[in-house]
Amino acid sequence: MSATAEPKDQTILPHGLPILNMPHDQQFKIDSNIKAPDLEHRRVLRKATGTYYTAVAKAKGRFLNHEEARNRAAHIKRDAIEHLDQYLEQFEANLKKNGGHVHWAETADDAVRIIIEIAKKAGVSHTVKSKSMATEEVHLNDALEKAGIEPVETDLGEYICQLRHEPPYHFVTPVMHLTTKDIADTFVRQLHIPRTEVPEELANIAREKLRQQFVTAVMGITGANFLVADAGMIAITENEGNARLSFSMPDVHVALVGIEKIVPRLADLATLWPMLATSGTGQHLTCYNSLIGGPRREGETDGPREFHVILMDNGRTKLLADPEQREAAQCIRCGACLNVCPIFKSVGGHSYDTTYQGPIGSVITPHLRGLKDWKHLSYASSLCGNCTEVCPVRIDIHHHLLRNRRNAVTAHFTTWSERFAFRMWMKGMKSPFLYRMLGRFARVGQFCYDLLRLDKGWIPTPLDGWTKSRTLPRIAKRSFHEWWDTEGQR
Ligand code: SF4
Repeated sequence: MSATAEPKDQTILPHGLPILNMPHDQQFKIDSNIKAPDLEHRRVLRKATGTYYTAVAKAKGRFLNHEEARNRAAHIKRDAIEHLDQYLEQFEANLKKNGGHVHWAETADDAVRIIIEIAKKAGVSHTVKSKSMATEEVHLNDALEKAGIEPVETDLGEYICQLRHEPPYHFVTPVMHLTTKDIADTFVRQLHIPRTEVPEELANIAREKLRQQFVTAVMGITGANFLVADAGMIAITENEGNARLSFSMPDVHVALVGIEKIVPRLADLATLWPMLATSGTGQHLTCYNSLIGGPRREGETDGPREFHVILMDNGRTKLLADPEQREAAQCIRCGACLNVCPIFKSVGGHSYDTTYQGPIGSVITPHLRGLKDWKHLSYASSLCGNCTEVCPVRIDIHHHLLRNRRNAVTAHFTTWSERFAFRMWMKGMKSPFLYRMLGRFARVGQFCYDLLRLDKGWIPTPLDGWTKSRTLPRIAKRSFHEWWDTEGQR
């Protein structure tokens, strides 16, 4: 079986558009303008997030004091990030003591090179992979394919993404946007099987295809949810058991992990594992939680003979160097902030075009990939604060979006028209006379707009982007000032 059997020109594009080589902000606008009015997309997402809300509310109820647990989780991660250098060195020393190998990757290219070197040395022709956003971040599958190594995704959601040649839609729920019918269509087209829309049957088909891959794979690639400094272990949490098979059956296990995943003590998992499960999927605990501390020892019958952990920076130290926004590195990737974000639920995960979508993705991507090209994501927010409210490690997400906006303005990454508009707005706000005049101009503008029936769209106006899917708000016939001057003081 090959999950990548179909030629690339049959790629199912996430946005239904040809991939255009255009600036990221313009691509974002095009993609989100397609997704936002798509009512079927909204229905699917509403169903998925509706189930999630109910489950989370129930799971939170099992904590004696959920708010205190959030404080504790935030404290653990803050301590880890503030002393990252010490904890990483401690992790490295302990993991080496256990017989594991530690590699440091400064960039995505370094990470890919190290993995391919390990694979070539082991004579690997295909690898089994469990879900890992770090490998998505470095585009590992493409690099492995170019090196002649077939990567096989073994998490069901990621497997479906791989069959569809599309990136994960959500960093916890990769196919949140698909219905059972969509998945059945994909299986029929890519695996040439008789059609079924029964979820259990679809899962069984995938299971059968993947089992053989585990048996024959020489190398397994995973990420990790946590790096435990005092134990020199990595912690992996999952629901399907495929990660366990990926790291225990092949001879070589490679884990690619971002350096921010460090936690000081094994005991910290007693807080972080339930917090991750509750916020991420509304479970009390995720089904399988594994700790891996080294390769197979003398006398042991299973586990890999070689165990490699690659500690990846890839821009994270830029975020850590910023004392004001460093706390964003505390993220445990539970995905809760995506599930409650009205913008994510409107434009969808693929519009972001980033590894990490939603509010936290909008905060960290400008640090990881450059503020100039990715500043637009920080404007994709209603600043309602839902994200901050649900974050299990208390990251002040929506204020970080404001800080990114401020940094973009300070760095002069805004357009001249934007600067001009805001300068005019500032002048108007500071002068009662100008403010009143602006109000009058707006009323004259609205009168002309109505008279010329511009809402019909027969002449393009600067308001088209707004009015295409919304009604233009009516300006009051009389301003508050006018009302106050005549009747308000009676
Ligand atoms: S920022 Fe907070 S809510 Fe969002 S994914 Fe990270 S830990 Fe979860």
